[in-house]
Amino acid sequence: MKVTIDKYSGFCAGVVNAIKIAEEELTKNPKLYCLGDIVHNGMEVNRLEKKGLIIINHDEFKKLKNCKVLFRAHGEPPETYKIAKKNNIDIIDTTCPVVLRLQEKIRQGYLKMKNNNGQIIIYGKKGHAEVNGLVGQTNNEAIIINSESDLEKIDYSRPIQLYSQTTQSLTGYYKIKNIITKKCSDNANNIITNNSICKALSNREPLLKKFAAMHDVIIFVSGKKSSNGNYLFKICKSINNNTYFISNKEELKNDWFKNKTNVGICGATSTPMWLMKEVKNEIEKY
Ligand code: SF4
Repeated sequence: MKVTIDKYSGFCAGVVNAIKIAEEELTKNPKLYCLGDIVHNGMEVNRLEKKGLIIINHDEFKKLKNCKVLFRAHGEPPETYKIAKKNNIDIIDTTCPVVLRLQEKIRQGYLKMKNNNGQIIIYGKKGHAEVNGLVGQTNNEAIIINSESDLEKIDYSRPIQLYSQTTQSLTGYYKIKNIITKKCSDNANNIITNNSICKALSNREPLLKKFAAMHDVIIFVSGKKSSNGNYLFKICKSINNNTYFISNKEELKNDWFKNKTNVGICGATSTPMWLMKEVKNEIEKY
């Protein structure tokens, strides 16, 4: 049985940077607080926790004073920076530059919309850390759209600026964009759309489709909480029905490989290469 790891899968630049900075800091200090999971992959979080990373939530963060806290690649709303300042917290900011640019664009868009009674619409997942950071740029006034049923929250008689969480599906974004555009067809000047899905993710889509078609079985490795993991898995599954989602090698099932000769392993932008290699070694034992 031939087992191949997709060379385009694994950490994106934003995650690589956050983990590199955390590891550098942990060589100087025995512990480091990180606000939220540094990456949506439990196995990688466990590895870093063993090195001294302490994952905290926002309630725990509010109680900290006079220490260092790492902000992950997803970014934070302005409120978090205010709390850090008030409590003398030294921020190690690893917000991905792509997210930072989007936060700034939304902030500028919001200021403009405020003057003309407009609305900022964000296509994303309510409660997701990145979305919280984006909505925070609009004084928490932005409307979050996750599915078609949310579209009724929009007032189509007022100006609209549409953005997307960086890790949303391209297909989903265009579907939502087309519906909104149609509803505004009487006044096309009322709407500005911005496809702000990260290229690191959208560029993977066609490559992943090719990879999924080339193999008898696809083992998709990702944390269950990863947005892009769930999205990329569905893409693989749509091309190759023998696609299985696992978070670690213990979830592999012998049956999947019966009479199969060609296995492909791939993953999300939050899946570490070491984990995909571990899965590969395990499959090769079958
Ligand atoms: S998916 Fe894109 S925006 Fe998100 S952390 Fe990675 S590089 Fe940055």
